[in-house]
Amino acid sequence: MAETLHKVFIDVEVDGPVAGDAELAAKLEEVCPVDIFKAGEAGVQIVEENLDECVLCNLCVDAAPDGAVRVIKLYEQ
Ligand code: SF4
Repeated sequence: MAETLHKVFIDVEVDGPVAGDAELAAKLEEVCPVDIFKAGEAGVQIVEENLDECVLCNLCVDAAPDGAVRVIKLYEQ
């Protein structure tokens, strides 16, 4: 089976303390247009296979407390 590459262009980090916040998890799941966040039982989960779909809209960054969510470009512009 061919290995699929994810996280080639974009990575998203969520700070540990806020990652466990169920309310924030639901909010992130709602705002991201490409379903990178999933509200799981343990809080925020990152859907790795969707990471490279990120459109850099910053809605997740704005929805979270300052600096708690970071969208990282893994490529040079
Ligand atoms: S920047 Fe936009 S598309 Fe990218 S993870 Fe955040 S909400 Fe989703």
